[in-house]
Amino acid sequence: MKKYKVVYHEFENGKEYDDILDLVNVNNDSERLMAAPDEFYLDEVIEEDNIVMKYNNYIDENGNYGKAQFAHRKKETIPVFKIDPGDTVLCDLCNRNYTNSEEIGGFLFQSKAVCPKCAKEFMKTVKKYHEERFIRSVARENETFRDFVYRVRKGEY
Ligand SMILES: [Zn+2]
Repeated sequence: MKKYKVVYHEFENGKEYDDILDLVNVNNDSERLMAAPDEFYLDEVIEEDNIVMKYNNYIDENGNYGKAQFAHRKKETIPVFKIDPGDTVLCDLCNRNYTNSEEIGGFLFQSKAVCPKCAKEFMKTVKKYHEERFIRSVARENETFRDFVYRVRKGEY
């Protein structure tokens, strides 16, 4: 049976994201499947029996719309959440600690919590590469980054 390893997706522009992953056949690295978001863990090895290919819409890094086959996890899909549960709130980009901060704003880019200080610059990059679809949630008006992260950890987004 074929086995696949979960690796970073290689963008033509050389960018890498923690959460954009491919499945590579462990015996033939020219066989590469795009992984559906949030269904696989980096470095996980998965058998072909446990995946199913489905067509999904996507927007590529140049902003073009397309339809392509993505690998999905068969059986029960367990969404991946890399944000540590618990009380500590850190920005996943700059690592600043917001646990005791009342600063307002921020957003969730795939599984990365982006703090108010990083939000503006990071949003420029997101727009440049047309990656708005990866923004999964945004802090509400007057919501502190800390409370926003707590809300997301509870699955409310
Ligand atoms: Zn930050």
